[in-house]
Amino acid sequence: MTYASRTNHLEPEGAYQVLARANQLEAAGQEIIHLEIGQPDYSTFENVAQAGIDAIRAGHTRYTPPVGMPSLREAIAEDSGRRRGIRIAADEVVVSPGGKPNLFFPTLALVEAGDEVIYPDPGFPTYEAMIGVAGGRPMAVPLLEENNFSFDLEAFDRLISERTKLIILNSPGNPTGGVIPRTDLEHIARQAQKFNAWVMSDEIYARLVYEDAEFNSIASVPGMQERTIIVDSFSKTYSMTGWRLGYGIMPRELAAKVDLLLTHSVGSTAHFTQFAGLEAITGPQDQVKVMVADYQNRRDVIVDGLNAIPGFLCQKPQGAFYAFPNIKGTGMKSGELADLILEKAGVALLPGSSFGRHGEGYLRLSYANSIENIRKGLERIKSVLKGSGR
Ligand code: PLP
Repeated sequence: MTYASRTNHLEPEGAYQVLARANQLEAAGQEIIHLEIGQPDYSTFENVAQAGIDAIRAGHTRYTPPVGMPSLREAIAEDSGRRRGIRIAADEVVVSPGGKPNLFFPTLALVEAGDEVIYPDPGFPTYEAMIGVAGGRPMAVPLLEENNFSFDLEAFDRLISERTKLIILNSPGNPTGGVIPRTDLEHIARQAQKFNAWVMSDEIYARLVYEDAEFNSIASVPGMQERTIIVDSFSKTYSMTGWRLGYGIMPRELAAKVDLLLTHSVGSTAHFTQFAGLEAITGPQDQVKVMVADYQNRRDVIVDGLNAIPGFLCQKPQGAFYAFPNIKGTGMKSGELADLILEKAGVALLPGSSFGRHGEGYLRLSYANSIENIRKGLERIKSVLKGSGR
């Protein structure tokens, strides 16, 4: 059999692979602490789940327009615009089953074979996957630990050119928890304008920012909204990963192209899921605040605990729910160390190398888990490393 070459570069997401191995160990009787998957441990908020159930009972189980129900698009335009200090029209909003299709389809609509696409490394693996499927050339910009994992702007300046079609940003970032400061966004914006490049700003962790940092969208830099695709999702903010609901905000001509791609691929997002989403953004927001405060406590516990492990050095992440310790002091490769910790300590986490070349020398731990489990996991890691003579 031969297969089309556009899938040759695709690889599984590290998180699913580690989860599969962790499940095997669990099935064999080992107790595993799960710090590998980027998924809130909270249930979907009660009012939101109820709105979904009510929608099913009311018969909202039909196709909707591929780009989403008008009422949801209007609510998203208002909510997202207000939070970012910009004006968004409902026809610039494209609803999708999770945020991922709004990463993939605008990329397919914009990138021609051979076009260069700049993206963060370490970064969310879907970026490299979708650039490759579109036939683009992936151009990785390192994220610097000493710069709170914001872009290495000098490397960025060296990479950007007339050949750059698209620049992908992710702030707060997966896997580092880094937040790109406004001054860096302004620099990137100036370059995007100079070289006439589009920007895709993955802002799915925008609401998960801690008190010592501030979220800014590059779309709020003057002149940028017309060349920016904002990608956001209900998955993390409202603990709705399995409902599959996300959206993109983009100029309406591009939205019309993405509408066609959705029409001929997924058709539409689940009808009742969209009603749940409507309740999520128009209903009370206090549960989001409680969740963010909780994550911040967990972050402080995990960062202190990681810094107490010999050979580990962990920055305080400013957003999302990932810690990204530098483990170069252990003398081990990140894949080797992640395997050792899973097999011997029963703690599932990810090697930084599954997020790109520049992730080598780091681990990613998701702290979307209870403080009790986080403490237990840290203790186990510490004792395994002592036992291994490191
Ligand atoms: N973007 C980033 C940076 C992510 O970490 C994730 C999920 O982990 C997504 C996008 C996709 O989220 P979803 O498709 O569940 O909305």
